[in-house]
Amino acid sequence: MSAPSTPPAVYQRRIDRVREEMVARDIDVVMVSVGHDLPYLTGYLAMPLERLTMLVLPRDADATLLVPELEAPRVVEQPGVFTVHPWGELTDPIELVAKLSAGASRVAVGDQMWARFLVELLPHLPGTEYTRAVDVIGPLRVVKDAVEIDALRAAGAAADRVAAQLHAGEIPLVGRTESAVSNDISARLVAEGHDKVNFAIVAAGANAASPHHHASDRVIGAGEIVLCDFGGTMADYCSDITRCVFTGDVPAEIADAYAVLHEAQAASVAAATVGTPCEDVDRAARAVIAAAGHADHFIHRTGHGIGLEEHEDPYIVEGNHTALVAGHAFSIEPGIYVPGRWGMRLEDIVVAADDGPDPLNHADHALVSVDA
Ligand code: ZN
Ligand code: ZN
Ligand code: ZN
Repeated sequence: MSAPSTPPAVYQRRIDRVREEMVARDIDVVMVSVGHDLPYLTGYLAMPLERLTMLVLPRDADATLLVPELEAPRVVEQPGVFTVHPWGELTDPIELVAKLSAGASRVAVGDQMWARFLVELLPHLPGTEYTRAVDVIGPLRVVKDAVEIDALRAAGAAADRVAAQLHAGEIPLVGRTESAVSNDISARLVAEGHDKVNFAIVAAGANAASPHHHASDRVIGAGEIVLCDFGGTMADYCSDITRCVFTGDVPAEIADAYAVLHEAQAASVAAATVGTPCEDVDRAARAVIAAAGHADHFIHRTGHGIGLEEHEDPYIVEGNHTALVAGHAFSIEPGIYVPGRWGMRLEDIVVAADDGPDPLNHADHALVSVDA
């Protein structure tokens, strides 16, 4: 599913920039198959089929999108950007790839191209050197353009509306299983405009101490924290938000810990300015949590990049010295997890912008007490 609003000029600009990188890196042909580089360059997300789908992008000739004939109706053509070449069941698509790449001495292939296709291609292009297309496309994809930021913002706003329903007590909790609530949240993500749901973690009580807990058949009780971390894909771009609610009056221990978490998350968002290394954004959250004595209870990185994929570069983690640039989009999601007892996490998507951090989620950050 491609975003219908994305004009061909956007894809052309991206392909032009790939070609500039190809010149800089002396690459003759880029081959992109399944995975998310393909929709980035063409608007078309291929199903991971055994039949070959591939954008063959020569540096000095027109780009061709090879698709299995039966998939061709799903391709939205982008006039002037690439030629769609459907191949029939009796054709060897590898021969088509070889023909489009004749004479290439350096070829960059996508990470998710099936090994089978590369192995079959090798004898067709003797002497050719292979490298990874991620080196060419990755640096472009990590910096979101205005069209992408608009799409992320719209997806974030849709996720916010579901979080608001949770806070308003419109999603019943007590007496329902985590799975039932997860299904409810998923349906609401779709109702608010998502094309698909990628995950809806619902973790109550001690289950919330496990950061990637899967919603279970455990029944949610009164007097529990309920951690909800959910997101989906809307017009190709992903949402991802975490909010916690409490079923009843919040005990002091939980309220105190949550105040620390909220402060840590806000400090990390505030630190996410252009020029700041990713690891410093991580440290900003970690310092607040450590100062409150919870260093051992924050057991994961602070965040991940987001875009066409839920998890992509840049990662907000110790050791990532990458300085933020305007257009980086990522989550800020510190957590505090006390094994066997309770856990909590607070997550927003944030875009680094020239005039400061631009959060895409605005749902209430408080630990809302819900009578649900
Ligand atoms: Zn999340
Ligand atoms: Zn996340
Ligand atoms: Zn806040």
